[in-house]
Amino acid sequence: MSETEHIYDLTVIGGGPVGMFTAFYAGMRELDTQLIESLPELGGQVTTLYPEKIIRDVAGFPQIQGKNLVTELNKQLVQFDDFKPTIRCGEEVTAIDKYEGGFTITTAKGQTKSRSVIVAIGGGSFAPRKLAIDYDQTLEDQKIFYFVHNVADFAGKTVAIAGGGDSAIDWALTLEKTAKQVYLIHRRDRFRGLESSVKRLENSSVKIVTPYLIDAINETNSGLSLDLKKAKADDHLNLEVDDLLVNYGFTADNHVLRDWGLPLEHRALKVDTNLETEVPGIYGVGDSVTYPGKVKLIASGFGEAPTAVNHISVALYPERRQPLHSTSIA
Ligand SMILES: Cc1cc2nc3c(=O)[nH]c(=O)nc-3n(C[C@H](O)[C@H](O)[C@H](O)COP(=O)(O)OP(=O)(O)OC[C@H]3O[C@@H](n4cnc5c(N)ncnc54)[C@H](O)[C@@H]3O)c2cc1C
Repeated sequence: MSETEHIYDLTVIGGGPVGMFTAFYAGMRELDTQLIESLPELGGQVTTLYPEKIIRDVAGFPQIQGKNLVTELNKQLVQFDDFKPTIRCGEEVTAIDKYEGGFTITTAKGQTKSRSVIVAIGGGSFAPRKLAIDYDQTLEDQKIFYFVHNVADFAGKTVAIAGGGDSAIDWALTLEKTAKQVYLIHRRDRFRGLESSVKRLENSSVKIVTPYLIDAINETNSGLSLDLKKAKADDHLNLEVDDLLVNYGFTADNHVLRDWGLPLEHRALKVDTNLETEVPGIYGVGDSVTYPGKVKLIASGFGEAPTAVNHISVALYPERRQPLHSTSIA
């Protein structure tokens, strides 16, 4: 290693809400920090899965829309000019290797060195469960959607939503407020959502199409023509819509933790009360970790961040006070 090579004090892997707060807190503790996120944007599950939903259990916010929480976290992350973490989005960490001075972190874009690591990868990289039929892939994010990026995109449109769980019902109830018409297509007669949501759905303007499956999708001049097949029957139905939103759930894949050789329990990273793994110098926070009594919530992840960072700070710089109060910062 050349003498001039930069060595970070800390690398936070995963830029979900917990990784973002962790990187901010590490900067505030004057640790030279980099934050690496595999997706093009920060915010993790909140940005990707529910940017428009209202979160009610983050301290200090009686209620806040998911995307607004991420905006506030972003502002907090970069607020101190001297201690802004280096933020690298669109880079998936593929390996963490120990060397005598710390760890070599590998992504497709190269390698960096870090004296310590905090893993904040949540459930791992996640992907939507897709339609199990052949369709023109170029329609994705044009007329066929797996994510709602902006509710306003569906205003005044005829939208079909496919799915039978909470997320599909929530989106149907959200979009009916601005869409021209919402159809909810589900292969069963019963929905798997909260009883109160199902009741609201039944009293809404959403047209329920059950028990039907999407058999084929064809593009039309103005939108999509959906060929729907009745479950366990040969009946077919045609539905002309502008857009289709598919809500079949998501798969999360954290096999990378095993590839990194880190100790797991119930497929999560096993950590002690300092949030340190069995590998000295590698810590974990947020949904990616487990310990007795672990609760997978944003608020608990936010609580774990200072614990991990303060222990790292003292391990790297024993002369520093622990912990620093943010009110002492000029
Ligand atoms: C529909 C829904 C509603 C929810 N509502 C609430 C709620 O009201 N209140 C609440 O507290 N919680 C809620 N949650 C749970 C909450 O979103 C999670 O607890 C929270 O997102 C965990 O944050 P995290 O930063 O640990 O992980 P994540 O948000 O999962 O972020 C992990 C990040 O790591 C990245 N990553 C993964 N692998 C790599 C890699 N190899 N290299 C680099 N980056 C990587 C991922 O792309 C992701 O951005 C909800 C979850 C869902 C799905």
